Amino acid sequence: MDKHSTILEGWLADIDGVRWGQILIADDLIAAVGPSLGKPDRAFPESCLIFAGMGDIHIHAREDVTGQHNYKETFNTASAAALHGGVVHVADMPNNPAAPIDDASYAAKEALVRQANLPVTFTLYAGIGPGTKPLVGNVPYKAYMGPSVGDLFFTSLEQLDETLAHYRGQNVSFHCEDPLLLDQHKSAATHEARRPPECELSAVRFALAMIEKHQLTGKLCHFSVGEGLPLIREAKRRYNAQGQNRSSIPRLTIEVTPQHVLFDTAQIIAANRPWLQMNPPIRSSADRAAMLEALRDGTADYLATDHAPHSTEEKQQGHSGMPQLDTYGPFVAWLLVEKHFKPERIAELCCANPGRFVAPYQKEKFGRLLPGYVGSLTVLDLAKPVTIRREDLKTKCGWSPFEGMTFPGSVAAVYVRGEFVG
Ligand SMILES: [Zn+2]
Repeated sequence: MDKHSTILEGWLADIDGVRWGQILIADDLIAAVGPSLGKPDRAFPESCLIFAGMGDIHIHAREDVTGQHNYKETFNTASAAALHGGVVHVADMPNNPAAPIDDASYAAKEALVRQANLPVTFTLYAGIGPGTKPLVGNVPYKAYMGPSVGDLFFTSLEQLDETLAHYRGQNVSFHCEDPLLLDQHKSAATHEARRPPECELSAVRFALAMIEKHQLTGKLCHFSVGEGLPLIREAKRRYNAQGQNRSSIPRLTIEVTPQHVLFDTAQIIAANRPWLQMNPPIRSSADRAAMLEALRDGTADYLATDHAPHSTEEKQQGHSGMPQLDTYGPFVAWLLVEKHFKPERIAELCCANPGRFVAPYQKEKFGRLLPGYVGSLTVLDLAKPVTIRREDLKTKCGWSPFEGMTFPGSVAAVYVRGEFVG
């Protein structure tokens, strides 16, 4: 064995089942998986599950060429928070002060990531805003329908339709909130009443029409309204019958966040209100239960966090978004232990599906415990609870909506290209 190889042993959890076995990682890649490959460098106890390295395909690392938002987060601190949460690759959203919307601005942001030279792999979205055109390079896109954080949004859906006509066949993720309906509710009393479910439902219907009309590979971000799930199931049936686009990503997928599964409006009190503010907002207990079931039954495709750090001062002033990367693994353990999710389902939501999403844009393959895939692993210990404490967080913003909460399991180890990183 050369010094760049390592053998790990334990319960191996992938989309096709859980089995006790060993993984040999050599030269950054999984070289072999089997019942007995040699003397293990580390054997994990029975309480642990070894997954392929997990991926969070919706984060805001905040850093760009202006550095204006580096006080919230940087690629470096986002990478540290990701590894702390058991996440080995992320996809970063484009709503930066210097938004990556064309080849030059995208290349400039890519260069920053390259210079940072981090253990976590970043895939970058390019922004779609009024009047933008597709890049020459093959990249995933993000369209903001309504105003959220940043300037990349449309004031009318006609304007978005006209712009999307140029993006035929591309991979486009949608933030679904209807700008006109948001405007109609803008003087309501609370954040959640200013952005009610009908805003998201209307935008979801529009996004589905756009995916159809412009032959997009579409992803709906941070899905939060239970009433919208039948629309998704129906649309998925239709698209799946038509086969897939040029990439292997299904024509329609949706993300669900941990915070829409752990919080509902009945829990909002004056003391936590600013900290739980995000777009789309925290919803009713029925919506919360529906999102959990969507993750379980496969209507949802990704556990994606919308990690959106702001400083504690900004949160008290009413900024939308919350940090989530540090707590990704503990939340997954909660799904497994308390909600009895099958490990195979977790392997789809957190490993294989995110890996498939970034595959067209990365040289390495993520998300399966198979030879040829990158030798990055997330090991969860389902018998070792963790209480979320501010002083343990790696995110630069320095707080979490889960502070004080105890999750029933934790991240036992993370490997990146065969190397133990935490
Ligand atoms: Zn977001």
